[in-house]
Amino acid sequence: MNLLGIDFEDWYHPELIQRHLKTQNNKPTVVNGIDKILDWLRKNETFATFFVVGELLELKPELLDKILAGGHEIGFHSMYHTRLDSPNYREKFTEEIKRFDALTSKKSRGFRAPTFSLNHNSAWAIDVLSENNYVYDSSVVPAKTKLYGISDAQTRPYRITSKNLERDDPSGKIMEFPLLVTKILGRKVPACGGFYLRALPLKIIENAIRHNNEQNIPASFYIHSWELTPEFMPKVPLSFIENFVTYYNLGNTLKKLDRLIKKFKFTSFSRFLSEAKF
Ligand SMILES: [Zn+2]
Repeated sequence: MNLLGIDFEDWYHPELIQRHLKTQNNKPTVVNGIDKILDWLRKNETFATFFVVGELLELKPELLDKILAGGHEIGFHSMYHTRLDSPNYREKFTEEIKRFDALTSKKSRGFRAPTFSLNHNSAWAIDVLSENNYVYDSSVVPAKTKLYGISDAQTRPYRITSKNLERDDPSGKIMEFPLLVTKILGRKVPACGGFYLRALPLKIIENAIRHNNEQNIPASFYIHSWELTPEFMPKVPLSFIENFVTYYNLGNTLKKLDRLIKKFKFTSFSRFLSEAKF
């Protein structure tokens, strides 16, 4: 069994786009793709966790009902898609998690950090999650990239604490589900979705999932809402690299992920946790 997390955000949330925006008054468009995503999951008899950027629930409260009605799970992806390691964010994050709890009637039990920004400068977030009765996190990518990654972290799910982000700590109350990585030419590389799903040959990702499953480790996989519904994603002028990372092969994402979920079994984190024996 593997894990599917859909990072549900709008076109103005990705970090590589957000840094170019001058105004806060951006009109959401990607939210309109929700029905297409839900239909696709239903046809594939697959449940997913939607890590939602909270402000979208304030703008479109019906999103929550639609997600839950499909048998899926709601999770937290911050209120505005702010990096956890932004200066002095702890207090604001604590307010945000309470606001999200109110918006979702405390149904959210899991968290995904925007841009996987859980690291040694933002380890406090694990304490805040724990204080607010969260039970799991999926923000650790055990491979170093330019924007994120904790290369020493273990790949099997473990109890994470703010003092120990990399390994199992029996005193930990939060279960960490590290994202799928693989090795290419001896180097650890993310194989967990998003840009890597778009850029890597499907064979490499399939082998990474199989490798995990052979060791009884669930592959934690993610995709952005806007990658599944690129027709609702406007084209924002970016630098060459940012443009490549954001838009490369966007039109083929759904097709590639569709092949993966037909080949491997995926489910939501909450369903996995209720069935798993740890
Ligand atoms: Zn995100």
